[in-house]
Amino acid sequence: MILLRTLALGAVALITASCGVGGTHNSAVEASGGTESAPILTTADARDPHSYARPLEARVNDVALDLALDFRAKRVGGTATLDIDRKPDAKEIILDTDNLEIQSVADAAGKPLDYKVGTDDPKMGAPLTIALGPDTKKIVIRYRSGPDAEALQWLVPEQTAGKKHPYLFSQGQPTLNRTWIPTQDSPGIRQTWSATVTAPEPLNVVMSGERLTPNGEPAGEGRRAFRFRMDKPVAPYLIAIAAGDIAFRKLGPRTGVWTEPAMLDRAAAELADTEKMVEAAEKLYGPYRWGRYDMLVLPPSFPYGGMENPTLTFLTPTFIAGDKSLVSLVAHELAHSWSGNLVTNATWADSWLNEGFTNYFENRIMEAIYGTRRAQQEAALSFDDMMETLDEEGMSDPTTRLNLPPAEATPEGGATGIVYDKGAIFLRTIESIVGREAWDAYLRSYFDRYAFEPMTSARFLADLREHLVKGDSALEKKLMLDEWVYQPGLPSNVARPAPSAFAAVDRAIAGFKGGGAVPTGFAGWTTAEKLRFLNGLPRKLPTRRLGELDRQLRLNAAGNNEVLFAWLELAVANRYDPAVPALERFLTTQGRRKFVAPLIEALAKDQQWGRPIAARIYPKARPLYHPITTRGLDELGLPAG
Ligand SMILES: [Zn+2]
Repeated sequence: MILLRTLALGAVALITASCGVGGTHNSAVEASGGTESAPILTTADARDPHSYARPLEARVNDVALDLALDFRAKRVGGTATLDIDRKPDAKEIILDTDNLEIQSVADAAGKPLDYKVGTDDPKMGAPLTIALGPDTKKIVIRYRSGPDAEALQWLVPEQTAGKKHPYLFSQGQPTLNRTWIPTQDSPGIRQTWSATVTAPEPLNVVMSGERLTPNGEPAGEGRRAFRFRMDKPVAPYLIAIAAGDIAFRKLGPRTGVWTEPAMLDRAAAELADTEKMVEAAEKLYGPYRWGRYDMLVLPPSFPYGGMENPTLTFLTPTFIAGDKSLVSLVAHELAHSWSGNLVTNATWADSWLNEGFTNYFENRIMEAIYGTRRAQQEAALSFDDMMETLDEEGMSDPTTRLNLPPAEATPEGGATGIVYDKGAIFLRTIESIVGREAWDAYLRSYFDRYAFEPMTSARFLADLREHLVKGDSALEKKLMLDEWVYQPGLPSNVARPAPSAFAAVDRAIAGFKGGGAVPTGFAGWTTAEKLRFLNGLPRKLPTRRLGELDRQLRLNAAGNNEVLFAWLELAVANRYDPAVPALERFLTTQGRRKFVAPLIEALAKDQQWGRPIAARIYPKARPLYHPITTRGLDELGLPAG
């Protein structure tokens, strides 16, 4: 049976799924933990072209993993037991896999089920089609991950801070979890999950769910077993794991940090405001619904700034500056506990619903904790980033739409200047038109209404019209909603950043451009001010002037990695030799894609000066980098080592 729920506005229907017998949940589902199917959207705009699944016929409801980590072979192996919901006449279920070695597929009673692994697509992996018996509700897949599973990075001890033990971490977003978990890997198909994972002593295992075995349990042969559970339905890209020499320190009643023992003091000091951030976020948009909010500070090869894995945000260590000047990253990942994890883009064409909302929300948390000025400055930088992307792509380019057209909607999403920045600026524009009070009340109700559900642009706009615009045609006209979401470029009603945010810095830029001195107050500026200054300088400067900046602002020795990056971009653009040792150190000690990709690309493009430097550094740096980071860089044709 398929239950359809139709919203008042827009043709959005939900399958709320007990597709099985009758309207109540049957015993097979209850026996597996009593999980209720999370709704799936049925509209055309919610169809995920990056998954083979056909969830309206048969969908995964719960994933139970029983896995062993094999650091020598760099593989995980064991079983995945899937609880499924299905139409009574469904003949098969289709899962997403990518290079998995499937050993057997059986039902709950151990009876083998026929299965077929289809043709492998370089981007999507291969469909795993499993034949269903008339009563099949549970599927047990025995498998192991292939070599070089893209979601998993296995570090040798030398690549960690402690240098003694190996380390593993996963990165599932957007479509990588199918390289280690056979399931329906689509953000619109929410699943609960649980896991038992064994690792060799003395390694610790952490996952993005409730920790059921605080210290692990003996599992024989020098191994320990760790158990986890996520009883709220999540998009499958949010299942995450890490293992290594990982210790914990409490920060507040429900917050804490995991990291290598050598990093614990620095990480805990930098994250001291986290509990306050959770409280500030709750005041804005309602209860934090995930239990604990812990963070894992990873070894430096983590390719992203952060990843919002539920209950356990993964963070790059590059945000540690010693003075909390880069903790907007934590505000961002925390904000995803609402936008992204609670209400989730149904497809990657709408990733602005995750990232634009989160960028906006991040700024509101920063304002609540660190004040209006810092928040306004960070918002102004975000505006600059958007404008830069719009200038680069052109105002009529389809990639500058929030809702990406099908041809542009790769799982990796569009440019951050659009998905993150234009998305946030759209919401800031609505706020400026309807007023903060009405806007906050709306957002709060939005998260309540759609908690644990997928979202599309059309569904959001329909909801906004129903609950905020309420038929007010003058307001509808002012908001220009469809233009923001479905048109390229920048609508005329855009809320511009406060002009006063950077007045002093802009004077310093003008002064320096006019041949004046290096600003003396730089050391006391906020990170946003420093970035505004460095990014506002002409891209071509004489060596003498770069030398003045370098010496007086001590840029080659900057401890704030965002500032260092902005400086190194300028230095590379000017072939400034004295920055090369700092550049080499930066590129060989961390692997955050946002930092290393633009620098290596800029070097590689400069045939005469930069390319030989890149050719020398890249083979040294590459072993540290995650596949997500090397994927694009390998195409530059540099020696790989
Ligand atoms: Zn994000």
